[in-house]
Amino acid sequence: MIKRNIVPDSGGTPQAAAVKPPHPLVGGEFVIAAAAAAQLPEPSVPEIAFAGRSNAGKSSAINVLAGRTRLAFASRTPGRTQQIVFFRLRSGALVADLPGYGYAAVAKAIKQSWQDFLWSYVTTRSTLAALVLVVDSRHGLRPLDLELLGGFLPSGRPVLVLATKADKLNTTEKRAAVAGITRELAAAFPVHGPAVSVVLFSATAHLGVTTAETIIESWVSGV
Ligand code: GDP
Repeated sequence: MIKRNIVPDSGGTPQAAAVKPPHPLVGGEFVIAAAAAAQLPEPSVPEIAFAGRSNAGKSSAINVLAGRTRLAFASRTPGRTQQIVFFRLRSGALVADLPGYGYAAVAKAIKQSWQDFLWSYVTTRSTLAALVLVVDSRHGLRPLDLELLGGFLPSGRPVLVLATKADKLNTTEKRAAVAGITRELAAAFPVHGPAVSVVLFSATAHLGVTTAETIIESWVSGV
C-alpha cells in the first residue's frame, strides 16, 4: 500500500519565515543545464528532482520555495524546456528542474526525445533521492504524471505531489482535489509503498509552502 501522508495546507506567514533559518532551497546556485545524458553532472551528491506537465506551475513553485530568487525561469523559451537545470543547495545536495512534459504544440519528434531523456534520468539516475511532482490541483494526475510516477515509485524513494494553483479552488474543491489525487495514487500504485505526500500548494497565495519546505528539508538534512 502507498503510505499516504496527506498534509493539510498550513499556509506559512511572512512573520514566521523571518525568524526561521533559511530553508535549504533558498540561495541555491546554478550548476549546469543538461540537454543530454552526457551533460549530466557526475553522480555524487543526492539530487531532488522537480517534475510536472508544462504550465502546471513548477517554475513558480520552485521560485517560491527558493525565496523568489528565480532559480527556475517562469517562462522558458522552447529550447530551454528540453534541459534538466541543476542547482546546488547550501547543503550540497542538487535540485534538478526537469523539462516540462505534455506540451501539445511541440513537434512530436522533439517531444519524444526530451521525454526519453526525462524518463531515463528519472528511472536510472543513481543519485536521485526524491521527486517533487507538480500538478495543477484543478486537473489532478494526468496520464504522463502517472507514467513518470510509475518509473520512480517502485524504487521506494519519497515523492511529494504539490497540488498547485490551489488558490483557484474553494474549500470543498481543495478537499476534493487532495482526495482525488490520493485515490488515483492508490488505484495506480496499490503495491509499491514509499512515502507519498500530497500537499495543496499555491505559489501566488503562498499556501502549503511551509509544509513543502518541511518535507524537502527532511530529505536534504544530513546531506
Ligand atoms: P511551469 O511551466 O510548470 O513551470 O509553470 P509556470 O510556473 O510557468 O506557471 C504557469 C502559469 O500558471 C503561469 O501563468 C503562472 O503565473 C501560473 N501559476 C503558477 N502557479 C500558480 C499558482 O499557484 N496560482 C495561480 N493562480 N497561478 C499560478
